[in-house]
Amino acid sequence: MSEKIIKLHDLRAPALAVPAAPVAPAGLLTDALSRPLHDLRISVTDRCNFRCVYCMPKEVFGKDYPYLPHGDLLSFEEITRVARIFIAHGVEKIRLTGGEPLLRKNLEHLVAMLRALPTPSGRPLDLTLTTNGSLLARKARALKEAGLDRVTVSLDALDDAVFKRMNDVDFAVADVLAGIEAAHAAGLGPVKVNMVVKRGTNDDQIVPMARHFKGSPTILRFIEYMDVGASNGWNMDEVVPSGEVVRRIGAELPLVPVGANYKGETAARWRYLDGGGEVGVISSVTGAFCKDCSRMRLSTEGKLYTCLFATRGHDLRTLLRAGHDDLAIGGAIANLWRGRTDRYSETRTADTAGLPQGARKVEMSYIGG
Ligand code: SF4
Repeated sequence: MSEKIIKLHDLRAPALAVPAAPVAPAGLLTDALSRPLHDLRISVTDRCNFRCVYCMPKEVFGKDYPYLPHGDLLSFEEITRVARIFIAHGVEKIRLTGGEPLLRKNLEHLVAMLRALPTPSGRPLDLTLTTNGSLLARKARALKEAGLDRVTVSLDALDDAVFKRMNDVDFAVADVLAGIEAAHAAGLGPVKVNMVVKRGTNDDQIVPMARHFKGSPTILRFIEYMDVGASNGWNMDEVVPSGEVVRRIGAELPLVPVGANYKGETAARWRYLDGGGEVGVISSVTGAFCKDCSRMRLSTEGKLYTCLFATRGHDLRTLLRAGHDDLAIGGAIANLWRGRTDRYSETRTADTAGLPQGARKVEMSYIGG
């Protein structure tokens, strides 16, 4: 069967409009639902060395898939400029994502450039990264020295065969665990581990994963399988609701709910009754958290997305390369955020029939989770 090559780059993104009279940033921006702009997620590559079935299924992202040419990617200087503009508008947390961000060469240079950016509040920027852990053992120390605060590692199973069923590449769990250890040793904590749970594929790993990380400084979170993008064949029957995850763990390792660390935290936290640490559940399907969503996403080649489930982006790169100044670009970003009304997870229906005809959700591998 010849591979179906679908170019998933967002070709429909109109350039952002520069306002006639841009105003100076005031360090606080709220959207149409009064949600502040606080987090920026930056995808630094559309490539990955895994083929996770819920994100980059091999059938779509095959060996001939047309990834973005390097010239299309935002340079580190452009990314840092965009970050500086967002920070002036109130962003205090930046998460580097991908694809797999550690595949981007010399990423620690970008980390150091972002680390050097002051914030209006004077508080240090909260600089984090999400990775599949495959290169972490090699990179952890350099990232920490460059100024990275924390890492989140995706790990969907402890059993190698199940892990392979989820990420569809021959990569050993032990190497990811070594990456997690290296992150702890480098001081990139608290290290969080995210497990996407897909019924019938890896849900038998829920309790073994909980047992493994219980009593360790690693915070394990379980993510409900989501209908991100348009290529993972999502089906509600394959979603294990977070309530069921908590019940399964609690049957052996009793848990009690604890409050959020901060407003807008996506994970609901549970603590082991015996003091053995905590786990989290991220319930985009059965417990939407759109009401406090403060995240904007920047794609690898400079498009802005106001939601993980957006059907179109907004081209920022054209403005960056057309010579507009920071005030003008900041004004364009401010207008985009002020007009934001996204709350996809609250409006999702079982068959996501809510999407207008011909609309296609952006791929998670393109804008980061
Ligand atoms: S669905 Fe969209 S609006 Fe809701 S929490 Fe996710 S990214 Fe935010």
